[in-house]
Amino acid sequence: MSELMQSSQPCAENERNIRQKLIELEKKLESSQLLLYEVEKTALIGSWEYDLANETLHWSDETYRIYGLPIGSTITPEIGINFYSPEAQRIISLAFEDAIKHQKTYELELPFLDNNGKAKWIKTSGRLRLTDGQVSHVYGVFEDISYQKELQDINQQTNANFKKIVDNLNDAIVTISETGKILSTNSVVHKVFGYQSEELVGKDISMLMPEPFASKHQIYMNKYLATGRAGIIGVGRELPALKKDGTQFSMELSISEVLHRNQKVFIGIVRDISERKASENHIKRLAYYDELTGALNRTSFEKDLDSCIQSGKSAFNNWSILLTNIDKFSQINLIYSEKIADILLKEFVSRVSEHMPPCGTIYRNNADSFFVILKNSEAHSIDAILLQEPRHVAEQILEDLNRQFHIEGHEIAISVSIGMLDSTKHTLEKEEVKPLLELAVRNAKLKGGNQWSYAESKEMAYLKRHSQLTIEMQKPKFVNELFLVVQPQFDTKGKMVGSEALIRWRSQELGFISPAEFIPLAENNGKILDVGNWVIDKVCTLLAQRRLFSESNNPISINVSAKQIAQPSFADSLISKLAKYNIPHSEVILELTESTLVADFNLVISKMRYLKERGIHFSLDDFGTGYSSLSYIQSLPISELKIDKAFIDEIQNEHQEVPIVNSIIQMAKALDLKIVAEGVETSEQLAYLNKKGCEVIQGYLFSKPLNIEHWLETACRPQS
Ligand code: C2E
Ligand code: CA
Ligand code: CA
Repeated sequence: MSELMQSSQPCAENERNIRQKLIELEKKLESSQLLLYEVEKTALIGSWEYDLANETLHWSDETYRIYGLPIGSTITPEIGINFYSPEAQRIISLAFEDAIKHQKTYELELPFLDNNGKAKWIKTSGRLRLTDGQVSHVYGVFEDISYQKELQDINQQTNANFKKIVDNLNDAIVTISETGKILSTNSVVHKVFGYQSEELVGKDISMLMPEPFASKHQIYMNKYLATGRAGIIGVGRELPALKKDGTQFSMELSISEVLHRNQKVFIGIVRDISERKASENHIKRLAYYDELTGALNRTSFEKDLDSCIQSGKSAFNNWSILLTNIDKFSQINLIYSEKIADILLKEFVSRVSEHMPPCGTIYRNNADSFFVILKNSEAHSIDAILLQEPRHVAEQILEDLNRQFHIEGHEIAISVSIGMLDSTKHTLEKEEVKPLLELAVRNAKLKGGNQWSYAESKEMAYLKRHSQLTIEMQKPKFVNELFLVVQPQFDTKGKMVGSEALIRWRSQELGFISPAEFIPLAENNGKILDVGNWVIDKVCTLLAQRRLFSESNNPISINVSAKQIAQPSFADSLISKLAKYNIPHSEVILELTESTLVADFNLVISKMRYLKERGIHFSLDDFGTGYSSLSYIQSLPISELKIDKAFIDEIQNEHQEVPIVNSIIQMAKALDLKIVAEGVETSEQLAYLNKKGCEVIQGYLFSKPLNIEHWLETACRPQS
């Protein structure tokens, strides 16, 4: 008994111990279940277990929650699977059977509709528990991954959007590795480089560069990686790039550097700027080149002249300038056509350019006049220096023109007059260059043309005189020294039909000065505005005086300069002066020259139209001496054309044809313009003009310009 007692005592203690342990275990289990429960709830991860032998399914609370079913409600595999779409049900069943059959695990992500009708994404996995080598249980995790899916979707969408944006840029984007391998590109590379993205990825970036950039690229890269310094990172650079077809284009390249998985990656953004460059070049061409001949234009000349003047001050930088003017060019316009004259100018430039020494540059000054700058800074050999001699260049040009031009079936011979300036002979200011050259050209022309002439002391003296005249013109008494003469115009029968007002200047200091000399100067120094106003006033007074003694309403023509007509107040001030003296608008005619028009064509034309609408007529003076372009004359609101004296001078007698005079008269008739022949001095000229149908004669043959009193007498004399 005692033995029993002895033996039963430790037994009871054992039992107590075991119970105690069980309670502890239960507590632990409870707390770890609690933990599991909490974890599941927080992580939205549930679990399930299927007992194959008993065909019972067990879910964790979280699984119930994800299903939206009351915790503990009856569940079967059929109930569980019903919440998936039919397609998902099929996938699960297959995975489940496959897992058991091949003893493997599965993990699926499937769409799901919970008991409350809420769409979810579920991650469900299956694992196997084996008992005696046989699958006894399948269990797994059941996770609501809707949020992750949503994030993933957003991410995918963002990526897709980003790709769309990147592919729709105008710029090609190429990422490269440190070793210069292309990692990725957007689809724009195809448009820009002609390669598909697949053709580029993995290749070296240098395949998109022409030489010498391609060969040097890796050297640059290495240098950058070693020093961390590269001019190109971060800034947009203009560089040449190479297309698949081998052509080159201008790109603007900006590169940025990013760190991707601890590796440096370079992102290059490439913009094809060839179009922009082309339009920039086009604008540059328009700004610096003459459209017709392709030679540099006057803007370029002014710029290069500036630098010559600057450099000319150093001993070794000698330069010289030629001004070349085609003799009687206007006749080519008139006799042939403007189109042919234009072709001639183009061919002239290319012929002259052909023999130009390397230091020579040709510029178009205006219609038929061209500058050549010879800059001698880099000449070494004596031969080279001789070739660059302005005399040599001038003689070469003259020789080149000995050959006739063949244009559209016409054989055209031209000659030029060349004025030259040598910086070694004079110290020059910029303002002196053009007038000196023009004077030198004039000299060459006076000697009969087809020759060159240096601007020498005579021209220098001219310039000095010009500055003297300008000083005198600036003095207040200048206007008081002016007076007007008026030259009557007649029909071929000798009846007075009009007049031209001509200005005169008798300077106290310098004596009588011809308007041919001082008017161009006044145009340059602005005095022409005073002169112009003075003349208009005088003419108005004169017409008012005439009315006192005569019924005549013959017009007086007034010469108007470019600066004058360009004044905003010109038209209205003229009209108000006429009104002040009560003079009909038809009693004045305004004479403009072609050069006046060319100065600011559109502005002048609009003024002319304005005045024409108000009954004031225009005459085109000195016709044939300027550019004489038919096409614009047609569009001018003029009613009269004056043939320049130079052409009238060519008329020797009534029977010898003067084609230029004939064509001007024919043209004027075709355009229904009145023709006035100027400088008619002989009866032969009168006879010829009469025969050709010219209506109005102005010249010494009938009358010299008359002083006012004399003119009034003539104008008021009764006409026979
Ligand atoms: P223009 O307008 O062509 O004037 C005609 C010139 O030819 C005048 O010279 C006139 O005296 C001259 N002339 C007319 N008939 C004959 C002739 O049979 N033989 C010769 N040898 N000459 C003749 P002028 O008066 O010396 O004027 C020279 C230029 O000065 C004018 O040429 C015109 O461009 C300018 N001018 C004259 N007066 C004015 C004016 O009031 N305003 C402006 N802006 N310019 C004027
Ligand atoms: Ca005139
Ligand atoms: Ca004239």
